[in-house]
Amino acid sequence: MPDRRNIFLYYKKNQEMIEKVKPFYEYIDHYGFNIVQDHRKANIIMSFGGDGTFLQAVRKTGFREDCLYTGVSTGKLNVYCDFQIDEIASMVEAVKNEETEVRRYPTIDVTVDDQMSFQCLNEFSIRSSIIKTFVMDVFIDDLHFETFRGDGMVVSTPSGSTAYSKSINGAIVDPLVPSIQVSELASLNNNQYRTLGSPFILSGGRQLTLRILQDGNDHPTMGMDNEALSIQHVEKINIKLSDKQIKTVKLKNNSFWEKVKRTFL
Ligand code: NAD
Repeated sequence: MPDRRNIFLYYKKNQEMIEKVKPFYEYIDHYGFNIVQDHRKANIIMSFGGDGTFLQAVRKTGFREDCLYTGVSTGKLNVYCDFQIDEIASMVEAVKNEETEVRRYPTIDVTVDDQMSFQCLNEFSIRSSIIKTFVMDVFIDDLHFETFRGDGMVVSTPSGSTAYSKSINGAIVDPLVPSIQVSELASLNNNQYRTLGSPFILSGGRQLTLRILQDGNDHPTMGMDNEALSIQHVEKINIKLSDKQIKTVKLKNNSFWEKVKRTFL
């Protein structure tokens, strides 16, 4: 990758992380890479930490499509971190010798009340912020699919299917399948109220719309990956697969399913 020379490093600026990342600066010069302070000038963005730091690195740098993202773990290897911090030399060698491939992760586009839009790499989550049943009409394209009553919903990307979605019995979805998965949080199901009751997966061309019943419980907590949304009152949310993907550096023998096996089995 001869044209990929400018690296932006993203990590928490505490003493522990500063110490951990310090050795990396030495390798950079040696291999002819530049560290840039402005992420807009980078063509490689590298996060140091865990999956949460990787998610933040992608969000804070604007989900750039013209960049390669790389996750470096400072603990155990996890889903978005393909490399470990004490393997930095072999990582730089791998990049230099082109032993890496590019992995593409689908993202989702979320629009709130036709006004505010954002992307998610793991999931969009919405849940009641008070002790009262939360009611939403759920539409798939123009079809009124169900009226949901319960705690909330999680709409995940394929790579997010191993995160929050998995904890609520979602299926693990191969990131090569461009799709979104919708999973319920504690739905109410009885003779009066009915929801599908199982997660469902929508193909990339579909749009999911959630219309929140304006009954006093219309100030839900909404999350875009690991960040809370600051808007509070909401009436309508549109969610669809984005046409933008996140590119990451991948070692040739490290498929998504190898990561799943390593993480969960
Ligand atoms: P973090 O790095 O502390 O992450 C928490 C845990 O989630 C870690 O073990 C991390 O490795 C794992 N994780 C994050 N993304 C993952 C993915 N795509 N596949 C597998 N594991 C993943 O950082 P954080 O800021 O707390 O993480 C945010 C994520 O935590 C959210 O995007 C959401 O998916 C997840 N989350 C899960 C639950 C739950 O399982 N009940 C609740 C809230 C949030």
